[in-house]
Amino acid sequence: MSFLIQQVLMPVDQGYATVDVDIEADRITAIVPQNSPLSRGNQSFTVKGQNKLLLPGFVNAHTHSSEMWQRGIIPPLPLELWLAELYDFTPLELEQVYLSALGTAVETLLSGGTSVVDHLVLIPGQEIETVAAAVRAYQEIGIRAFIGPLIQDEALAKGIPDGDTKREHEAYLRSTSETLALMQEMIDQFHNPEAGVNILVAPTGIQLCSEALFEGCIELSDRYTLCRHAHLLETKAQKLLAQEKYGCSAVEYLNRIGYLNSRTSLAHCVWLDEADIKILAETHSTVVHNPLSNLRLGSGIAPILKYRQAGVNVTFGCDGAASNDSQDLLEAIKMGSLLHNTTELDYHHWITPRQAIKMASFGGAKGLNLADELGSLMVGKKADLVLYDLTNLSLLPRTDPIGLLVLGRPTNVVDSVWVNGEQVVADGKITRIDTDELRKELFERSQWMVNRQSETVRQLESHYRRVMGLLDYS
Ligand SMILES: [Zn+2]
Repeated sequence: MSFLIQQVLMPVDQGYATVDVDIEADRITAIVPQNSPLSRGNQSFTVKGQNKLLLPGFVNAHTHSSEMWQRGIIPPLPLELWLAELYDFTPLELEQVYLSALGTAVETLLSGGTSVVDHLVLIPGQEIETVAAAVRAYQEIGIRAFIGPLIQDEALAKGIPDGDTKREHEAYLRSTSETLALMQEMIDQFHNPEAGVNILVAPTGIQLCSEALFEGCIELSDRYTLCRHAHLLETKAQKLLAQEKYGCSAVEYLNRIGYLNSRTSLAHCVWLDEADIKILAETHSTVVHNPLSNLRLGSGIAPILKYRQAGVNVTFGCDGAASNDSQDLLEAIKMGSLLHNTTELDYHHWITPRQAIKMASFGGAKGLNLADELGSLMVGKKADLVLYDLTNLSLLPRTDPIGLLVLGRPTNVVDSVWVNGEQVVADGKITRIDTDELRKELFERSQWMVNRQSETVRQLESHYRRVMGLLDYS
């Protein structure tokens, strides 16, 4: 199959150019000035690009799809207590996993994303089936999927520092070796980059993982050339915990055990110091910035401008929909670029809309070790493309299209999306699944509710408050 996108606007160094873009099978094969002889080839069909903007697809570089079932309900809590509530009510049906993966993909595609990194929460006892359900969803809808089965080998309470208390912790429900054996099976069954499904090793983070688990993941990642993912220093509590656990920073620790390299992407990175930033730059690790989640959970503002100045690759994620509470990438990109204007007086370092777009596309591809294949509009690259309707009211009047796309409040602006040369959105509609049916399923499998009570939050809260120095005046 081949097609031509005609007379479309695309960004070039000095502004914009109107071009014709030729796509053969899964790749961009030509980008030429409009109406040039080259652009009248033997394509099967043409797409009208007039008054539309073509950009490379963004990467939703960190999310947890099944959190969709709990969006909007968790009260204002910091990560450690928020997680306790999240886990108490986590979905346990495979069909829920399938539906929320579809929902996550729909929102990602309709906000400019063509790839999703799903740090997927596994249903205990049905771990392989959980991954199968997400894979089924992503293949049906046609988004490029990077699934990092979320693994840990320590119980939730261990993720909170001890402080001056001595706590005993129960064992985690699955042993380290059982977890690694599951990972092996998931890789064998599902890792298939050609088919758009990639497995990542993704221990949740230093707060809940043993060294043996990290080492097992490093070994698998090296053997199968898999990307590596993890949460890193999302909260102040995790910074304290790293000192308690290792006597050094979490970044120093991960560097020492060899977890950091150019295939490693790290979500959040809020509580890093100068030495840590240097390590991320030297190891060519990628930071995934999740600004809305960091605000929602009060985690802090990640020092993104410092990362950029140090040469660290940065991209954006929505994070799971229970800490955001949506999967709108354009919203994450807007917030993630504007937020830092408040932390840095020198506006020369502020993130421009064009830089933000590049971070979301090329930066995302780089973090997945795919900078040669994805992330920019270049001949030879994969056709993971998004076409924006510049006649949409929210993108009018006509000014700088990318400026308004990032700084404005774009609403239903995605006209078409192609992943691997296949059209998955047309005329603003998802083409390969019935979204009305999805809405019906999500509606019928849920109910309106308020004031649910989390037993685990009740158990952990007083210790959390004590160790974080939050005094109770009662
Ligand atoms: Zn996360």
